[in-house]
Amino acid sequence: MSKSNLLQYDYDIIIIGGGPGGYAAGIYAARAGLKSLLVEGAATVSQITITDVIENYPGVPDEINGYDFMQLFKKQAAKFGLETAGFDITGIAGDETNSVWNVSAGGKNYRALAVIAATGAQWRKLGVPGENEFAGKGVSYCATCDGPFYRGRDVVVVGGGDSAIQEALFLTHFAGKVYVVHRRDRLRAAGLLQKRAFAEKKIEFVWNGTLEEITGSDLVTGVKIKNTVSGKIAEIKADGVFIFVGRIPNTSVFHGVLKLDDGGYIITDENMQTSAAGIFAAGDCRHKLFRQVVTAAGDGANAAFSAELYIGNLKGEAY
Ligand code: NAP
Repeated sequence: MSKSNLLQYDYDIIIIGGGPGGYAAGIYAARAGLKSLLVEGAATVSQITITDVIENYPGVPDEINGYDFMQLFKKQAAKFGLETAGFDITGIAGDETNSVWNVSAGGKNYRALAVIAATGAQWRKLGVPGENEFAGKGVSYCATCDGPFYRGRDVVVVGGGDSAIQEALFLTHFAGKVYVVHRRDRLRAAGLLQKRAFAEKKIEFVWNGTLEEITGSDLVTGVKIKNTVSGKIAEIKADGVFIFVGRIPNTSVFHGVLKLDDGGYIITDENMQTSAAGIFAAGDCRHKLFRQVVTAAGDGANAAFSAELYIGNLKGEAY
């Protein structure tokens, strides 16, 4: 008798998260014949669905917006029979056999042999007037995605960490001028990045500056900056505002279950295995350097394959 007869479970795999990482995992898991459920948050939206244009996903040469792009992932997953549901996961706990994970949501419990965490991250927002209104209309949280739209134009970068400085340097390939607005008088970014940024003629630093408002009509036309020392407000004309004041991973449900890094990101090995047997992670919720649609999708495929091997062992069906 196969070991699987002794295990009580509803799904081989439950995938948590409906972005590129989650759907890529779902496509691979369902295509491999594993009984899989993908759960999307009831109220949350994946970062990609608010991305205006994607033009750097290999094999997709025509510009496509993030929402439409996700519909293609969903169509492909449905073709392979992936089950999907929309609710917020409230807890994850192992059972006494250490072979089944109980995933709870809305008073219900779903049992799975493996879980793939693809819960993503959200950009930390500044919470200033204009930030939400001009999202996708000049306000961006991704220079790799949106930088090429600002050829020869002036942009503002907010933040003083590695992301802000690295992305400011990237933006100099396109923009006419890059203003880096930082709330203090020195950067948090690594020394090498600082050195490069200080040597870059297109970058102008605005020290001790907090962004008070993003202005415009249909599109962004500028920002108002307050000097924290003098209290004076100055205006800068710009077509784009790139905000890099940190990210917040959506991993609260994994606290106490998985090993997280100091920033709250899930730590995995190269095969997407987390610190708990049977739980894998993919995409922006994972500790890694480069967070892009293509890297999330790659993670998802890897996580599904690792989960397939794990489940095969658990069921005594490994080849
Ligand atoms: P971060 O290191 O947390 O830096 C956030 C920056 O935003 C800081 O300069 C901070 O100012 C500023 N900030 C935070 N809240 C703000 C607010 N409300 N108003 C104005 N400014 C605000 O975040 P990150 O740059 O995204 O980096 C996250 C992690 O990824 C770091 O560990 C970083 O090393 C890593 N990373 C590495 C690389 C690389 O190795 N190439 C590239 C990107 C990111 P203060 O300095 O005053 O606190």
